[in-house]
Amino acid sequence: MYGLNMTEKEKCNFKIIDSTDELKKSVSEIQAYSKDSKHLAVDCEGINLSRTGKLTILTIATKDKVYIFDVLKLGRSGFDEGLRDILEDKSIEKLLVRLNDADSLWHQFSVELNGVLDLQLLEVLHRRRIKSSIWDIMPEIIKRNQKVDHVEHIAGYQRCLELYVGESSALRDKKKGKFELDKDGLVWNRRPLSDTLAKYCCADVTGLFQLYDALMQNEDIIPRLRVASERYANRYRSMTDRNYDKYECNAYLPLEIIPEKGRLDFPSASTPCSKCNRKFPHDEFLPAHLSRGIQKCCVCRRKEIDISRNYRRVSDWGTESNNLPCGFDIGQRLEELFQFSPNEFCEIEFGDLFLLFESLCFSPPFILSAHLSLSSCPFTDLVREDVPQRQM
Ligand SMILES: [Zn+2]
Repeated sequence: MYGLNMTEKEKCNFKIIDSTDELKKSVSEIQAYSKDSKHLAVDCEGINLSRTGKLTILTIATKDKVYIFDVLKLGRSGFDEGLRDILEDKSIEKLLVRLNDADSLWHQFSVELNGVLDLQLLEVLHRRRIKSSIWDIMPEIIKRNQKVDHVEHIAGYQRCLELYVGESSALRDKKKGKFELDKDGLVWNRRPLSDTLAKYCCADVTGLFQLYDALMQNEDIIPRLRVASERYANRYRSMTDRNYDKYECNAYLPLEIIPEKGRLDFPSASTPCSKCNRKFPHDEFLPAHLSRGIQKCCVCRRKEIDISRNYRRVSDWGTESNNLPCGFDIGQRLEELFQFSPNEFCEIEFGDLFLLFESLCFSPPFILSAHLSLSSCPFTDLVREDVPQRQM
């Protein structure tokens, strides 16, 4: 467990490094610290951080000290003077969050970030442990491609701190820095770095140690977390091209990032999802979709429903809220959403239907009364007679 000396003293012992001499000294200190297999915490900042954005700050922390490397000033040579050795070393484990850091480091500086332990994935594992889900209870009964309503969220870093660390100097400094970030979108490009932003960098990394302490209850999960973190870091980094669409960038845990319990590998996969392009086993997809080449993994199907929900909010389908025209063609909507024709309704799972209804702000009886032809759909069985019919 990390005692986190810095936050206990309510101060942040940080150093901004913007010269080669300071860089070499700092790298030596970090490497000496890492010899005892202690974790580092790593975070990057920049403008639109990704392969096409601009990484300008790299922060590396030990439990005693935070090193803020000014990448804007040090340039690419900063990585050649020792930072690459630390970041690429698989034996030096680094606590971090966020996918885009690995993508930025690789595509902007040819640095392959290795030895990562992603705490957002640790948080998912923690959630699974404390809340046994239907995934664990009935894995053999419910196939994964029917679990669109059980797709898991990736919680934001600040939210994780709020939930598991609580009120702390890290959280306070992060909120103060956020105020400055919101005012100026190019703030990570400006020098000198303000004291508030330097503390924000410190908060990001010191919070990682605290979060790790709070979430790591059982070290048996570390091998799975290592595999998952590497796979997650590669999610963007390994892509030849990125399109930044909603299927690629969203807050859901992609499938087959965390290995199943008791495993460190994944089933062989050869069929690509038509939305996220990740490959999965053939039986991950619905047969009706496969035959038409529009197969989607359940995460992308879930995202599709979210997009529909947002569309519903902004469109002007009714004159009053929730009051849709009598002749609203739910069949057409289903077809748009799932690319099914009406006579294929029965192939839509219950989970998809419920989410669809929720997305349209309908009650099931209303849908039935709105000129629907769902007689062949198993959902009909679930409509209760005693639910009052909605006035149209
Ligand atoms: Zn997909």
